[in-house]
Amino acid sequence: METSRTARPKARSAFVLAILWLTVLVPLAAPFVAIALLWGHWATWRDVGLLVGMYVACGLGITVGYHRMLTHRAFKPTPVVKFVFLALGTMSAMGPALRWAVTHIQHHAHPDEEGDPHSPWDWLGDRPQMRVTGWKSFLRAHFLWIVYGDEAQITRYGQELQKDPMVRFMSAWPVVIALIAAGFAIPYLVGGLQGMLWGGIVRIGLTHHITWSINSICHIYGRRMFETPDCSRNNWVFALLGFGEGWHNNHHAFPRSAFHGLRWWQVDLSGYLIWAMARLRLVSEVWTVPQTTLAARAAGSSNPRSPMGAERR
Ligand SMILES: [Zn+2]
Ligand SMILES: [Zn+2]
Repeated sequence: METSRTARPKARSAFVLAILWLTVLVPLAAPFVAIALLWGHWATWRDVGLLVGMYVACGLGITVGYHRMLTHRAFKPTPVVKFVFLALGTMSAMGPALRWAVTHIQHHAHPDEEGDPHSPWDWLGDRPQMRVTGWKSFLRAHFLWIVYGDEAQITRYGQELQKDPMVRFMSAWPVVIALIAAGFAIPYLVGGLQGMLWGGIVRIGLTHHITWSINSICHIYGRRMFETPDCSRNNWVFALLGFGEGWHNNHHAFPRSAFHGLRWWQVDLSGYLIWAMARLRLVSEVWTVPQTTLAARAAGSSNPRSPMGAERR
């Protein structure tokens, strides 16, 4: 019997569906609108600076804050550091920190199997083979799961996080909406409406696509350094664009490691920042992978019998 996973439509109201579609489609279209505008010379160096500056700051809020700090507890932050990174992450308009973390915990609990909120793969019955059902699967993993997937299971995967007063406060909708608005107000104050276009909506669109690509592309294209029971891949393009997050096979092999780049040449901007903050005593208890563990895991990384170099366990 075929047990392929299909995203179940939720009984959401037309209003909620419309909001979800808007939050997905507007940033989705923004980079294309921006390129068209750029073609018409409607961009200054100040706009480029706003785009890059806001992209780096708010993007690190996702990679260092939402992901490595909150979801994986890869290091222990001071309260100020925790607040700043949660605020920056929220400005990326990817939903409240609590929901983001819970969805990601669920991804690591069921990577590329039944229960994964955003896998591009389908299993065929009990056969350890996978298939991608074309663009539909890709788009489902990329962003359709946000609209049509199940709600984040906070009571199942977020009980510990819910006990954290700062996480609860920062995940309250009024705070989330205020921070997203701040992500538009800051570039507006610097560069007016044009600055808001580049530093606000275009920046959010880019952050969305790069982050979603870790879920979709980095589970399809790239190299595997470690044997893991999923299809995660190391993809250098998204490691550069996503501040180290593209070393996704490394991350699935060692989820709690603060560093996703595990070789000297694996550029990992988020990891460098965590290292620098540790030197400045802004964070402590930074989790790393011992060299002996790395060598032992890498030695067992190939599995010629498996089409993905991975087997389901
Ligand atoms: Zn993954
Ligand atoms: Zn993760």
